[in-house]
Amino acid sequence: RNTIHVVGGGLAGSESAWQIAEAGHHAVLHEMRPVRGTEAHHGEGLAELVCSNSFRSDDPNGNAVGLLHQEMRTLGSLILRAADRHQVPAGGALAVDRDGFSAAVTAALEAHPNVTIVREEVAGLPPEAWGPCIVATGPLTAPSLAEGIRAITGADALAFFDAIAPIVHRDSIDMDKAWFQSRYDKVGPGGTGADYINCPMDRAQYEAFIQALVDGEKIGFKEWEASTPYFDGCLPIEVMAERGAETLRHGPMKPVGLTNPHDPQVKACAIVQLRQDNALGTLYNMVGFQTKLTYSEQVRVFRTIPGLENAEFARLGGLHRNTYLDSPRLLDATLRLKVRPSLRFAGQITGCEGYVESAAIGLMAGRFAVAEAEGRALEPLPQTTALGALIAHITGGHILDDVPEEPGEETAEALVKAPAKPRSFQPMNVNFGLFPPLAAMPRNETGKRLRGPEKAMLKRQALTDRARADLSAWIAGTVPQAAAAE
Ligand code: FAD
Repeated sequence: RNTIHVVGGGLAGSESAWQIAEAGHHAVLHEMRPVRGTEAHHGEGLAELVCSNSFRSDDPNGNAVGLLHQEMRTLGSLILRAADRHQVPAGGALAVDRDGFSAAVTAALEAHPNVTIVREEVAGLPPEAWGPCIVATGPLTAPSLAEGIRAITGADALAFFDAIAPIVHRDSIDMDKAWFQSRYDKVGPGGTGADYINCPMDRAQYEAFIQALVDGEKIGFKEWEASTPYFDGCLPIEVMAERGAETLRHGPMKPVGLTNPHDPQVKACAIVQLRQDNALGTLYNMVGFQTKLTYSEQVRVFRTIPGLENAEFARLGGLHRNTYLDSPRLLDATLRLKVRPSLRFAGQITGCEGYVESAAIGLMAGRFAVAEAEGRALEPLPQTTALGALIAHITGGHILDDVPEEPGEETAEALVKAPAKPRSFQPMNVNFGLFPPLAAMPRNETGKRLRGPEKAMLKRQALTDRARADLSAWIAGTVPQAAAAE
């Protein structure tokens, strides 16, 4: 029996400790509450839900988070077991009685003979003498530990603020209106000269858009967020719009160096650019569009952009306090810190987003730690599964290291006073854009190629079926090498 330490008894750390204990090893779980609190937690229970009580869709057929639920149940998740037992009615969503849920997780871990819970703050990096350790301290990691992590990873490796621009599924963009082109056709490192998707606006569309940004409903900053460093570094797009009607068309929406092949004679008043967000090329982010608009306003306002009328958003924009690592650079394929492999990371600090995703990464970190303690190599999870796709997002399997930069962007970034180097890695919920594309697009019974909602539905179902088959093969130990490494 090996001892593995886990720091942080939230969604991820509780799940890691459970996986370790269930595998017959000793988990020592260090949780600082109630000795020290965070700005968002209120109680002292493990796995406290800090905001909503929903684990989102529980539909395992054609919904990525529902599929993730199912995979976690298959792998013996404590978080899903407690959620299922404390479910409250919420249509197709899995919502829970938050107190009952947290109490169930706490009781299960307290009662487990292989778990020791220590209520203390781990101030600074966990000591080397502990040996293998999982750090799962979440978006509100206590400052001295965050400083310790920064000291060994470098100042730009740990972010304290998310400035997120919306991310759109590539196949929902109308390319009869939009087009591929880099500004001045510039070929950057790894680029082709046609790396961006461009959406043009005429004067009337631009003015209406600026007005919609100014009038749109916004979410306020919480008091403790407003005092966080880096707030100055990321100006929401609506704040830029408020500075004057022309500001955006001289900043992130400037129309220079681009020619619309659908209408070459007409000069656009403004152009929205979208940049490839993952190596698969399935997701594109809206350059410079970090925002505090509410989610429903973002969908309404951004769908007025020509070419984005039917846009499906993989994630919407936001700005909030969040401590997370530049994981694709720092972590190996089993979530270990490359510069100190005895430390493994799990949960939101790795750059996943959401309760379910945090617990999912906790589950896998626990399993990786167990395999290592037992001297076994754990076959990599196929990236075609929801768990595997999420791990690939975090550890860099899908992320472009060298996102091509355009000369115009520096001006846009100077305008928004962004941190020196743009981050290509952003936290993300699980979504089908993180899955490798299907080898062939599904067709209906008549063999016809599909379009619109019917195509999207069949595609999601096919991705789900593939994920199920590949997870079963992985569990049975029969997953082909090629699928595991896909
Ligand atoms: P946490 O659940 O936060 O767990 C981390 C634990 O580590 C905490 O218990 C903390 O006390 C402890 N800890 C921290 N530092 C130390 C230390 N040095 N020593 C010992 N213990 C330590 N996601 C959703 O899906 N839905 C939402 O509605 C939602 N709302 C959110 C609202 C806010 C304000 C925030 C900040 C995040 C929200 N999230 C939400 C995002 C995210 O899913 C949750 O934060 C989730 O709890 C992350 O899980 P975790 O295990 O990584 O971290």
